[in-house]
Amino acid sequence: MLPAALCLLATSVLCPPSVAGDSPQSPIRLVYSGTYRLEAHLAKPHDTLDFQTRLTLLADTDNRARLDWESWPKGHEEQRDLDTTLIAGTRVWRRTETGKPFVEARDKSAALLRARVENLIPWRTLARARSAPQRDPAQEGGALAWTDSSELGGFARRIDFDADTHRLARITRRFAHPRLGDAADEVLYRAWEERDGVLLPSSLTMRELDGGNSLRASPGSFELRLESAEAVADLTHELAPPAESISEADPGPVVPGEIEVTELEPGVLSFASKELDGRSYAVEFDDYLIAIDAPLSSALGERIVAVMRERFPKKPLRYVLFGHFHPWYTGGLRAFLAAGAKLVAPAGCAAFAEEIAKRPFTLEPDEWARVARSPEIERFSGTRAFEDAHQRLEVFDIGARSAHTDEYLVFFLPHTHTLLEDDIGWSAASDGKLSFGRRSRGLYEFLVEQKLEVRSLWQSWPVASPRPRISFAELERGVRTPR
Ligand SMILES: [Zn+2]
Repeated sequence: MLPAALCLLATSVLCPPSVAGDSPQSPIRLVYSGTYRLEAHLAKPHDTLDFQTRLTLLADTDNRARLDWESWPKGHEEQRDLDTTLIAGTRVWRRTETGKPFVEARDKSAALLRARVENLIPWRTLARARSAPQRDPAQEGGALAWTDSSELGGFARRIDFDADTHRLARITRRFAHPRLGDAADEVLYRAWEERDGVLLPSSLTMRELDGGNSLRASPGSFELRLESAEAVADLTHELAPPAESISEADPGPVVPGEIEVTELEPGVLSFASKELDGRSYAVEFDDYLIAIDAPLSSALGERIVAVMRERFPKKPLRYVLFGHFHPWYTGGLRAFLAAGAKLVAPAGCAAFAEEIAKRPFTLEPDEWARVARSPEIERFSGTRAFEDAHQRLEVFDIGARSAHTDEYLVFFLPHTHTLLEDDIGWSAASDGKLSFGRRSRGLYEFLVEQKLEVRSLWQSWPVASPRPRISFAELERGVRTPR
């Protein structure tokens, strides 16, 4: 049974006019289970990896809480991962694997972890919102908007209540994502029900688009049902701060340095940001340029476009292509569209580019949002060539042969026997030692079948690779050597 004080507290969640802030008189344990979907970098846009998941929340009457997040591939609970977050006052620790040390999170990553944990104890968030010094008075429909103190991360958020039931319906944090534009992390509460005299949301959805580093984070979402709720006599031990923890490495603000311009061969240049790990290539024709790959964010794309223009002030960026849809190659696409480039792509990638072009960027408008045009898109299937008197570029969709994405373009320059590709050819250790896998083999077999006379290959990613270029002979030897 849950104590009466907790029932009071839970009731206050439901009734916005009442004054919240009552603390439960007893610690509680809640268990939610359901699915966790991760929109990782898979074979096609919006594919997800789905896991079964269980979230066990422990919260005391102060400001301590703990979330044990277990997840496993469907039907394989023996492969369960455990990820633990602990909160005590303003401090947040996370341990991503049993046996590893806790790491004390800071700044944005601490605030995001706190939000995830407190999504499951909404009365605590609600109480804080009501007592926040920075509340937005101009809220319609009983919504509540506030900004957390800077020591809690300084996020501006909003709570919406259901118009009929007056129950808590949604907590949202809107933000400008550097690649996705207007975005929101949010939690939706549904089907409040009484458990042991306490009202709790019996189902909820949590969507997390942001991460400590927005560019690296993959969108994830939880669909959860309440399994159990119980009062616990004492959680002192479970909620104790870790005896030892290490400090999160301070990533510092990622300040992109110069765009480094390298001529790979006459008429073929690399424009790369080492700090952000993103690169575009430019192929020079007599009257225009073709850009290949548009990395990571509108801001990075715009900087690359500016440097390309400086380097080639008289040549318009007529076309932009990308090897595959992952963010390292498409995240900055809007900048190239804004520069007037026509996108040339196979059907699936063209549809994805249309989606990119339509994303709203109202919170922090990028160039493309300002020019407000429709994108020019040309579709092709299989292969497409560009040629003038001095240059020829042949583009091939090697598709599933990439063992990476359903559509995958590689770029061949027959005059120099050079192939440009994104990320499937090889990987290089820091000492330069090469390794080859299924993707390398798919690429190699495609080149052989097409009888392309490739002599050397450039690989776009990672930018800091000690071996961005290898010879065709190295690729051949690598894929033929049994591992
Ligand atoms: Zn990729």
